[in-house]
Amino acid sequence: MSFDYVNGILHADQCNLNELSDTYGTPLYVYSQTLITANWQGFAAHWPAPHKLCYAVKANSNLAVLNLLARLGAGFDIVSGGELARVLAAGGKAKDVVFSGVAKSQEEMAYALEQGIYCFNVESAAELERLNQVANAHGVMAPVSLRVNPDVDAQTHPYISTGLKANKFGIAMQDARAVAKRAMALPNIKLQGLDCHIGSQILTLEPFLDAADIMLNLIHELREEGIKITHLDMGGGMGIPYQQELAPDVSVYLQALLERAENMGNLTMLLEPGRAIVGNAGTLITTVEYLKSGEDKNFVLVDAAMNDLMRPALYQAYHDIIPVRQHDADKAIVDVVGPVCETGDFLGHARHLSAQEGDRLAVMNAGAYGFTMSSNYNTRPRAAEVMVNGGQVQIIRERERLEDLWKGEHLLETPE
Ligand SMILES: *Cc1c(COP(=O)(O)O)cnc(C)c1O
Repeated sequence: MSFDYVNGILHADQCNLNELSDTYGTPLYVYSQTLITANWQGFAAHWPAPHKLCYAVKANSNLAVLNLLARLGAGFDIVSGGELARVLAAGGKAKDVVFSGVAKSQEEMAYALEQGIYCFNVESAAELERLNQVANAHGVMAPVSLRVNPDVDAQTHPYISTGLKANKFGIAMQDARAVAKRAMALPNIKLQGLDCHIGSQILTLEPFLDAADIMLNLIHELREEGIKITHLDMGGGMGIPYQQELAPDVSVYLQALLERAENMGNLTMLLEPGRAIVGNAGTLITTVEYLKSGEDKNFVLVDAAMNDLMRPALYQAYHDIIPVRQHDADKAIVDVVGPVCETGDFLGHARHLSAQEGDRLAVMNAGAYGFTMSSNYNTRPRAAEVMVNGGQVQIIRERERLEDLWKGEHLLETPE
């Protein structure tokens, strides 16, 4: 496997993670090209053309990651004009891009129309009107899918559940027909699909298949009214094991979707996996700065923080934390915390770990929503990122320098 101990040292593919840390410093994100490729093939092998796979760029948008996926034939799901620019810079094709997001600006719409994306996943009646205007001003038809909210409970963390009525995402089921009719009437809108995305880190197939049935039903109804829907995009959300949970089998899910699609005549299916492609393919390496024993708690203070990996602070997310070099020292129950001045700044609570100053720890399954959510809070330069492939290593993002952090800032112009 891609992250394993060899002679007591954790490796990424054949690369020794202590050596990588010495060379590139910590905190350091390390990704396995082998594993990203295998994850992608795990979907692609069960998803024949004309069905499409659009990698959700926000999970990990490093140019090298996007470039690898573009080479593997990926399409892309974007949520901003910035992500479209990244996809194009990485060798992706606009015609394979779907554009999600609840509040697309006019500029973003215009840019995506100029580039010729596959479709806009429209999330409200108001957005539909605006897109029609922007397309009209450009003298083009905007290809559209309507994001409908199937109102299923994905049973995931409330912050990453997106398919319930109470969420800000998508068009309510009871409004879907009216919005579809309106789309048909607008001169610069070409309605071609429906989409949904019920949430993230979902660990059972039922909510996905419930949502699929609800969406297929709606497609039937719309077709009966003469509205020809030719694609269904089921979004992303497939979960991965963070603490040995059972994750659903991708091939079973895809097979179940394909069977449903077969009965639908002309229907192209799309998926937008993010986490499932990159999540387990990345680790965040951090160095132990200090040990500190409190009255009730022992702390391991490390050089990575919530600004590097926000998931624990944001969603109380669990990431395995394991030593890069295994040793026999006694383990203790410790909180692994970073240098940022927030009590919420932790990477793991109550971990059974032995750590000494200078040791490296690997925060596992950090490939998705890790670097992309990182910030410069506390004026901390963002981490470097490297890609390993077998025994080869390539730096794919240099560690930020301090000057990068105040680029564009200005001292006051008024005299003292
Ligand atoms: C975030 C997102 C995805 C990817 O979700 P994962 O849980 O990473 O698979 C797909 N589609 C949309 C619309 C999203 O917002």
